[in-house]
Amino acid sequence: MRFVQDCIFCKMANGEVPTDFVYEDELVVAFDDINPQAPVHALIVPRAHHTTPGDGVGAELAAALFSAIPSVARAKGVADSGYRVIINAGRDANQSVHHLHIHILGARSMSHRMLRFLDESE
Ligand code: 5GP
Ligand code: ZN
Repeated sequence: MRFVQDCIFCKMANGEVPTDFVYEDELVVAFDDINPQAPVHALIVPRAHHTTPGDGVGAELAAALFSAIPSVARAKGVADSGYRVIINAGRDANQSVHHLHIHILGARSMSHRMLRFLDESE
């Protein structure tokens, strides 16, 4: 399994940095985002280090990541009310932690307009 020494999500997912998991299985863990952008903001993180969905994610891990989504939504109490799922991949998406993760955002009604761009005024 690929582990990167100075990667914070590698350390959290593998117990080097103690973390409260809201969900975990053999291949993935989930925990609350440190800087939540909605009342519910959790991250689903593979235990193995992959940078993006295009970085060698096999079918087994892809299935584990995808099936963790409803489990985390249930654990966070937003399975019925709904939630938004985001993966930032690479430069234009402004990915800041280069260990693949799925954002689960909920417990607040969100705009139909999904995106903000850096060259837009607030
Ligand atoms: P990205 O922009 O890469 O898609 O998202 C990275 C996310 O990881 C951000 O929402 C950020 O708040 C979160 N994050 C960064 N460092 C930590 C950390 O040490 N602990 C937790 N729980 N979340 C983190
Ligand atoms: Zn990592």
